[in-house]
Amino acid sequence: MKKQFNCLILVSMLLAVTLGVQSQEKKEYPKQMGMKPEMTEWWDPQPERVTPGEANKNAFQSAPSDAIVLFDGKDLSKWQNSEGKAAGWRVHDGVVTVDKSKGDIITKGEFKDFQLHLEWSVPKDITGSGQGRGNSGVYLHKLYEVQILETYTQETYSNGSAGSIYKQSAPLVNPSRKPGEWNVYDIIFTAPTFTKDGNYRTPPTVTVQFNGVLVQNHVALQGTTEYIGLPRTVVQETGPILLQSHADPSEPISFRNIWIREL
Ligand code: MG
Repeated sequence: MKKQFNCLILVSMLLAVTLGVQSQEKKEYPKQMGMKPEMTEWWDPQPERVTPGEANKNAFQSAPSDAIVLFDGKDLSKWQNSEGKAAGWRVHDGVVTVDKSKGDIITKGEFKDFQLHLEWSVPKDITGSGQGRGNSGVYLHKLYEVQILETYTQETYSNGSAGSIYKQSAPLVNPSRKPGEWNVYDIIFTAPTFTKDGNYRTPPTVTVQFNGVLVQNHVALQGTTEYIGLPRTVVQETGPILLQSHADPSEPISFRNIWIREL
């Protein structure tokens, strides 16, 4: 009798599970509409062109005494690849050139609030177009991209041009120098703070000077800088700096004189 009772319970349970699975399978909700990259790109207005002050080679500005030098032209010991192994970009002639076969490079150290200085140059004879022409980027906390792109000779969507917070904030103006010359970014970043439920209490903010010209004025970020889709809030109070190796066939860009001051 007891055995029969146990069997009955077992059959009932199996039936309940089967029915549950069936009812789950039957329930269908509308599928979310997929987003396309173009949905977060705007072209009009284009940032107005401004000719920056002349870069005097004799006035090359090295790091101040309280800065952490991230690249001084000699080695990439402060950097690693995305797998935590040695950064494989090519160091030569006091600069480092992207090696697209080696992927992004990331600082070993993490930072919270900071002032970051870096210089970048696209080859004089660069080819390609749009986002496939000298594309790189500096990712603050590895989450928020300040775009690097050859936008002296060409236009792209405004919120993806050089000096933009990628797909969030177009630069106020376009002070790009021509290919072959050095561009300078001075970036001030304030880390976000978070509520207990994972929203921003205060969002991250970014100020960018591009060749000495203000292009982002204490901009409050909406979240991560996504190629497709909307910004996301990621609970992260500190993070490294990432330099982007962009997967396009144009000639790789170079960097020099990279330093950071923690605030
Ligand atoms: Mg980029």
